[in-house]
Amino acid sequence: MSRKPIIAGNWKMNLCQSEAKSVFEGVKNFVKDYSAQELPTIVIAPVFTSIAAVESVKCDCGCGCNKISIAGQNCHWENSGAFTGEISVEMLKDAGCDYVIIGHSERRQYFSETDEMINKKAKAILAGGLIPIICCGETLEQREAGETDAWIAGQIKAALEGISSEDVAKSVIAYEPIWAIGTGKTCDSDEANRVIAMIRNVVSEVSGAEAADSIRILYGGSVKPATIEEQMSKSDIDGALIGGASLKADSLNEIIANTMKVACNA
Ligand code: PEP
Repeated sequence: MSRKPIIAGNWKMNLCQSEAKSVFEGVKNFVKDYSAQELPTIVIAPVFTSIAAVESVKCDCGCGCNKISIAGQNCHWENSGAFTGEISVEMLKDAGCDYVIIGHSERRQYFSETDEMINKKAKAILAGGLIPIICCGETLEQREAGETDAWIAGQIKAALEGISSEDVAKSVIAYEPIWAIGTGKTCDSDEANRVIAMIRNVVSEVSGAEAADSIRILYGGSVKPATIEEQMSKSDIDGALIGGASLKADSLNEIIANTMKVACNA
């Protein structure tokens, strides 16, 4: 099966409303010249307070803005209630999001998110009709100790527990080696492809071959315009989750353009 590539920008805790609008406009102006078939699925995850600003520059005029989906960077699994500082799937959907990033290593590391919480979030996102982008990845110590595959297989099994094969098929996974995030050290693309193929085998084991064939698995970790072509030429890499290089329209547009050279049905 041919899987449509995804280019997803994770803006993390960056870009206030006017800055977010301006980067979004820059991407919108670039994609307006391409059809949805030519483009990868494009997802942008602004900070919560900039979602409305970015949504406000979307319209139905055919200018390209409907070719960019919005993601939340996190969510709670409950719909509402006494959870100060949290945001629900329903609220993200109401704000215009189609995707939610969960289990990013920064959430796991700085906010003590566990596999169990990530599983609850994934279920809530799918129940709410949105698509989870489930992050996983190993530390440098784990890699050097030869623990990468077992660690990631455990993260994936825990994240997908109790989720139907149908829902797994429409989900997205992002393999992000922690040592490659924000460091400029990109994982060798053959190695990233090997780990992603391993993840696909784990998905096949727990959710069946069809789900494994459909689920889109991204690579993340210091992706740049100069690295994406090689990454996208690999058999199992279906796209990228991009932090730093997604903060400027020019570099994100170059990544989208380079992705189309190798991986879209142009
Ligand atoms: C990320 O935040 O998910 C990420 C991969 O960041 P960067 O591209 O900056 O390494």
